[in-house]
Amino acid sequence: MNSNRIAPIDHTHAPELRSWVESAAGHPAFPIQNLPLGVFRGDDGPRIGVAIGDQVLDLRAARAAGLLQGLDAAQAAAVEAPALNDWMALAPSQRRALRHAVSALLAADTSEGRAARGAQHPILRSQGDSEMLLPARVGDYTDFYAGIHHAINAGKFFRPDNPLLPNYKHVPVAYHGRASSVRPSGALLRRPRGQVRQDTPQGPQPVFQPSARLDYELELAIWIGPGNALGEPIAVTRAGDHVAGFGLLNDWSARDIQAWEYQPLGAFQGKNFLTSVSPWVVTADAMAPFRAPAMARDGGPRPLDYLYDEADQQTGGLRVELEVYLSTRTMRSQGLAPHRLSRGDSTYLWWTPAQMVAHHTVAGCDLQPGDLLGSGTISTPEPGGRGCLLELTDGVRQPVQLPGGETRMFLQDGDEVVLRGQCRREGFATIGLGECRGLVQD
Ligand code: MN
Repeated sequence: MNSNRIAPIDHTHAPELRSWVESAAGHPAFPIQNLPLGVFRGDDGPRIGVAIGDQVLDLRAARAAGLLQGLDAAQAAAVEAPALNDWMALAPSQRRALRHAVSALLAADTSEGRAARGAQHPILRSQGDSEMLLPARVGDYTDFYAGIHHAINAGKFFRPDNPLLPNYKHVPVAYHGRASSVRPSGALLRRPRGQVRQDTPQGPQPVFQPSARLDYELELAIWIGPGNALGEPIAVTRAGDHVAGFGLLNDWSARDIQAWEYQPLGAFQGKNFLTSVSPWVVTADAMAPFRAPAMARDGGPRPLDYLYDEADQQTGGLRVELEVYLSTRTMRSQGLAPHRLSRGDSTYLWWTPAQMVAHHTVAGCDLQPGDLLGSGTISTPEPGGRGCLLELTDGVRQPVQLPGGETRMFLQDGDEVVLRGQCRREGFATIGLGECRGLVQD
């Protein structure tokens, strides 16, 4: 079971570790064992922060106060940068050393922690008052399709007789998405307009209209680390070094536009109008206790050699509990709480992040720090864990019932979708990925 393919579990994960930041104790997402990084808008521009309880540790302010010492030049530059790309470019050992330094600074019973607690200048700010920006400049965004139950369910909708195409269990299917329209949680979604198929006696004809089949997709975000040079693939055995962290991703989808355009070259306008990501990057180090075996293949084909690594099969998967909530304008006006649409977990990914990285680069394509991968929509075998409305409505047959009497086949104007992710394991502090929020503009 032991392997060096994923980050080790160490003293920064110890459940008894406490922070002098009081709100961190028992915080459902951001206790001291998590320490995710993000970028907030400071008075003088974007700054890198670490979420701790309901606060943000301003790394530049901490360094200016002399509280983050012993960093090498690359680590120092990464901490001072306006985005996390330079941090993502660090070697895993450098990222880990920085985690250790931040953990010591925020711990209750270390000399570093005592110094930070007594700092003359403020190094903390309230998360509630902090505008979070995109964690990194996203050079490229690729969306995989690794959620096998989504692939089966959605496949049934588009191809009832042939849901899972013969390549699915052999090749990590993906499309190149659009990096320019990736936004942090909270960005408004403007309903896209486009070509939609209308069936007439003369055959199918396009109509140009606002999408009437707007959907969300529950996915994990995978943030790429150092990456590779063009023509030099990353071996699956080394791929873990190139995953800097994780988050939540909503691949907003216009199903009517998608259905008309997707053959033969795949998603385009049906997907490129917005992709939302959670603002906090939960590091590969923080995730160490929440890795899992790759999905059991139950007689399915063994991956080709370039996708197969025994250690990755043992520990390369992810164990994240996932939830999606919806609130409508009417529900909010009536004071009704958001309705949970689904509850599932990330163990139903047919491919591990390492396999995605190995496959992405195998033909020579270069990945760069800050590149973003989507896992693909994650659904469980049970109906309660379906990761998009297309599936929850059984292929637009059975509307979702909401508190207050409303129903939904697809998203209406004023609807807000919230993705949440949490990692729980006996003997470890629970950590969260935070949330990824999006409101369909009225
Ligand atoms: Mn997707």
